[in-house]
Amino acid sequence: MDQYLREIQGKQVHDPFFVEKANRPSSSRCEYVDGPVIVGAGPSGLAAAACLKEKGVPYVVLERSNCIASLWQLKTYDRLRLHLPKQFCELPFMGFPSDFPTYPTKQQFIKYLEDYANTFDIKPRFNETVAHAEYDSTLGFWRVKSAGLKGDTEYVCRCLVVATGENAEPVVPQIDGMGEFGGPIRHTSLYKSGDEFRLKKVLVVGCGNSGMEVCLDLCNHMARPSIVVRDSVHVLPQEMLGKSTFGLSMWLLKWLPMRLVDRILLNLSWLLLGNTARFGLDRPHLGPLELKNLSGKTPVLDVGTLAKIKSGDIKVFPGIKRLKAGYTVEFVDGKRENFDAIILATGYRSNVPSWLKEGEMFSQKDGFPRKAFPNGWKGECGLYAVGFTKRGLLGASMDAKRIAEDIERCRKVEANKQSMPFAAGSALDLQRSLS
Ligand SMILES: Cc1cc2nc3c(=O)[nH]c(=O)nc-3n(C[C@H](O)[C@H](O)[C@H](O)COP(=O)(O)OP(=O)(O)OC[C@H]3O[C@@H](n4cnc5c(N)ncnc54)[C@H](O)[C@@H]3O)c2cc1C
Repeated sequence: MDQYLREIQGKQVHDPFFVEKANRPSSSRCEYVDGPVIVGAGPSGLAAAACLKEKGVPYVVLERSNCIASLWQLKTYDRLRLHLPKQFCELPFMGFPSDFPTYPTKQQFIKYLEDYANTFDIKPRFNETVAHAEYDSTLGFWRVKSAGLKGDTEYVCRCLVVATGENAEPVVPQIDGMGEFGGPIRHTSLYKSGDEFRLKKVLVVGCGNSGMEVCLDLCNHMARPSIVVRDSVHVLPQEMLGKSTFGLSMWLLKWLPMRLVDRILLNLSWLLLGNTARFGLDRPHLGPLELKNLSGKTPVLDVGTLAKIKSGDIKVFPGIKRLKAGYTVEFVDGKRENFDAIILATGYRSNVPSWLKEGEMFSQKDGFPRKAFPNGWKGECGLYAVGFTKRGLLGASMDAKRIAEDIERCRKVEANKQSMPFAAGSALDLQRSLS
């Protein structure tokens, strides 16, 4: 392989067309990458990079923002902590510091990721937004086009690792009358703290983990929050029987079928939280683990919001029918109420279909791999996905390890092929194409 790569690079150095293209000061450049291009420097991209580093495989990481883990650094609220205990959120080869609490704060998690990047010497290329990536079947290479501060670059590589995340873009629903409402309407990705909503009436739309936590934060900052609960939802205590609910579920699943574990979780939740339907939070027909497994819908791990709903500090409303001028919200049950602001805790979506021109591995509809966990990490022609398992950081770590192993294996196979006489055809093709 080394010989093959040296050959390409050697030829590039002497190719006036390639040199000219590579050295163009701004506008558009072309660069051959020995190893995979990883798109995204969130936890998944970092995990993939570290696993490749451990195997001695070079790579390039492209990141659209100016920092690692931009979701955590730029788009999350101040009071956020990991929802799951730290042992279920570690990236490969590096645990959390022992003095970190069970549920590290957002700042602690960011510190952990920064230390991780330093430990594995991961240096993403920041401010590079991948706008187009396509496999060139004639050449047998991926062509990855990114827009950066200094112009556009086309990266040419054998493998492409998609690590842009399940939460790449905020989902902002279109609600009738949005333009008339009058008050601010903001997605949670722009919400930092309830401080600015002191004494204000705020409607939070969406009852996932973020919506529930934002309501609690608003309460703690003396705001008056209400929450829109349109669908059924499983609310579970964050801890049960002195163990994290997630940890307990994992442990029980080793011995018992999922449906039985769901029964146990629901019975314990009933004992600890009571009948949540009494407060407007109906439970889905499927149990929390079965639902997660089939649809990816995550149960809410309650960190104190339910007590505020029970005490009436947080009001529950059904779906919104429309918004009206004068800060008015009309609900599907016909009730109307005025609010100073609306926070949309309506989640995120993948952005893969917007830039990856490929129809096999990723669904164009939702931007997730079509194959279900644990088989969604690998596509054809050197295409990989890390962090699309709907299983958080644990799933990302599993993907990252598999991907690095597979890429290392493929490189060995290719190196063997290249050591055969007369096998350098595609290198010449690539060189011609780059020029
Ligand atoms: C509020 C919140 C709390 C969470 N808590 C937990 C938890 O406790 N435990 C857990 O396991 N999971 C949790 N998650 C899930 C979360 O998705 C993961 O923790 C983690 O951030 C996923 O990492 P990722 O690298 O796959 O995606 P991201 O963190 O989203 O990183 C993707 C990166 O790709 C970049 N990118 C996107 N598009 C492009 C492009 N076209 N070109 C270049 N770069 C691009 C983005 O800027 C971003 O930096 C939480 C999520 C949220 C929103």
